Amino acid sequence: MATLNESIDALVCDLDGVVYRGNVPIPGAAEALVRWRDSKRRFLLCTNNSAFTDEQYIAKLASMGLECDTEEILTSASVTREILKRRKVTGNALVIGGEGLRAAALSAGLRTLPEQSDEIPSVVLVGWDRSFTWDKMRIAATAVRAGAIFIASNADATFPAPDGLWPGAGSILASIEKAAGRQAEVMGKPHRPMMEVAQERLHGSRGIAMVGDRNDTDLDGARSMGWTAILALSGVTDRAQATRLSPPPDLVLQSLADLLPPQ
Ligand SMILES: [Mg+2]
Repeated sequence: MATLNESIDALVCDLDGVVYRGNVPIPGAAEALVRWRDSKRRFLLCTNNSAFTDEQYIAKLASMGLECDTEEILTSASVTREILKRRKVTGNALVIGGEGLRAAALSAGLRTLPEQSDEIPSVVLVGWDRSFTWDKMRIAATAVRAGAIFIASNADATFPAPDGLWPGAGSILASIEKAAGRQAEVMGKPHRPMMEVAQERLHGSRGIAMVGDRNDTDLDGARSMGWTAILALSGVTDRAQATRLSPPPDLVLQSLADLLPPQ
């Protein structure tokens, strides 16, 4: 068990590898978050996976014993929506990604183009797309070369699957960037858009800690904001890897179940 400094009153918490692995809850994680909330502190569940909508996450978490509202969930899809809205981006979008990213484009006021379209998209949005094809790569790269706004929900190279690591959104993105000769602006952790939207959501907090299972997204993101960086060993990083991290995490937990709110 570990207790945080008393000044920490908000927790940013990664989902996959911290609260669950795929569809399997991590024992004690949901209870730890309920305990945290019961101690009159806030949390924000923060995922780079843009494939699902907030409502789908709420349903998934409820099935694992954690009732949340939309204010407590932040996905790279909702950050994408927020940034598109703030910049008043208009036009038609090619969405290479799942339902979450498509819903984000629509609610930001963009039109989404069907895969077979003669129109050249003015916006290209890239996330995790299990039906990604060479044709999608070609259309996206052509649009980007023609000057389309080029945004990626996240750039995680891999996706943790039950049988190992699958190619993630970042692998899809890399192929389009290579073909287009230009890099996308990335919304998800550890990049600024998601970190800043998370900070805004937790406005008024005295101190923020972030729990994640991945050093190069969760912990690097936390450090860039001056937050306490906590590694949970329930996901992609094991203890041997954790001991080699430089800089080291501020705290290492076996799992979120070991986190106690400050007394
Ligand atoms: Mg994770």
